Amino acid sequence: MVKEYDVIIIGAGPSGIICAYLLKNKGLNIALIEKSSFPKDKICGDALSLDVMNQLKLIDTNLAAAFELVAEKIPSYGIKIISPAGHSIELPLNHDESHNRCGYVCKRMVFDHFLYEQLKNNSTIDIFLDTTVTDVKCTAEKAVVNTSNGSFTTTMVIGADGAHSIVKKKMVSQAIEKKHYSAGLRQYFKNVHQFNTNNFIELYFFKQILPGYLWIFPLPNNEANVGIGVLSSKISKQHIDLKSVFEQLIKEHPALKERFADALPLENSKGFGLPLGSKKNKLSGERFLLLGDAASLIDPFSGEGIGNAIRSGRIAAEIIIAAFTNNNFSAAFLKRYDQEIYKRMWLEFMISKQMQKLSNYSKAFDYIARRVQNSTYLKNFMRETLDNMEKKKILIGPSMLFHLFFKK
Ligand SMILES: Cc1cc2nc3c(=O)[nH]c(=O)nc-3n(C[C@H](O)[C@H](O)[C@H](O)COP(=O)(O)OP(=O)(O)OC[C@H]3O[C@@H](n4cnc5c(N)ncnc54)[C@H](O)[C@@H]3O)c2cc1C
Repeated sequence: MVKEYDVIIIGAGPSGIICAYLLKNKGLNIALIEKSSFPKDKICGDALSLDVMNQLKLIDTNLAAAFELVAEKIPSYGIKIISPAGHSIELPLNHDESHNRCGYVCKRMVFDHFLYEQLKNNSTIDIFLDTTVTDVKCTAEKAVVNTSNGSFTTTMVIGADGAHSIVKKKMVSQAIEKKHYSAGLRQYFKNVHQFNTNNFIELYFFKQILPGYLWIFPLPNNEANVGIGVLSSKISKQHIDLKSVFEQLIKEHPALKERFADALPLENSKGFGLPLGSKKNKLSGERFLLLGDAASLIDPFSGEGIGNAIRSGRIAAEIIIAAFTNNNFSAAFLKRYDQEIYKRMWLEFMISKQMQKLSNYSKAFDYIARRVQNSTYLKNFMRETLDNMEKKKILIGPSMLFHLFFKK
């Protein structure tokens, strides 16, 4: 027998789970379909920014409070950026020593499981684990979802199924555009040395991988998440073997080899794609929406995607409720989802795209890093850009030159 739902959400990553969480108890009959089971891994840097923490609070203060109780995470109070020539800039999140604002580094195995636990006992949501969606079709009457465990019909289908989204492939059929896509590798280690006492996350911008970077993020139990992310167009053009470059950098680069002298790899390096938000895409159509990585909402400079995945889950839940209220599931009605996503994210994507372009010039990068290193004013300014959009806009405007050349 074919099972029928109002909404089928495909993918139980942050975007899909948050969307389901916000649709629970709203009178809709919901299915969440996930190809893995929990706890499940996701190749990621595991950095949860201030934005992620703020959004958990916005969604539900109890959700944010429950996350505070999760033990297997480490608070991070800032970012360290190391320029190609080795100039380092430390940007604390706090103005003073009060330590009231922090992001976290938390394995996705733990974070996604935490989100799932908040949802799993809700009677309005049927969860199908170990169930892979193999095909999706949308017509004017309904949507049909075929899976490894049978077929479902639904009024709306939500593609929250990540970078290799089947919903995107079937509904929008877009090929990967390499200049709007990065490739990433992650490897967990034990015994990496010399972390900042305030657990700063560290981004190393080495010349051969610009505008990408190598990251070292501290984790509990003396572990670290180490990885590398590089634009796919650069990898193709320069025939970069990402795994070799990664291994060579941590073994041989003077800035890293001592730090990794006693490091113990806990796994082989693993790769995954990052669909970047540097280009607008079609995010909806008749009876469907795309969320998170399926909608290419990763920041083109920093590679952060969890915050926007959650944000897209929030926006999608509002639009889905509006569609049911108006009994309208047409492409024209759902277009408001695309508009709302880009209204909230496009400016930030454009700033990050410019920063991605600028960071390609290693000499300029080194000059700026040296200036910031030696100027309290510029350091404070850069710190404020981390979560202040008005300051961020200045970064790519002509007045930045004035700040760089004339401010002490
Ligand atoms: C190497 C790397 C490092 C990163 N580091 C960071 C970081 O430090 N901080 C940050 O904020 N972001 C980071 N990101 C980005 C971040 O991981 C993503 O933006 C985020 O996971 C997107 O969430 P999502 O819910 O859209 O997709 P996902 O988290 O990918 O979830 C998609 C879900 O769909 C399921 N699925 C897929 N196909 C099917 C199918 N056919 N049927 C059923 N289920 C399916 C998957 O199993 C998965 O559970 C990184 C990404 C990479 C690749």
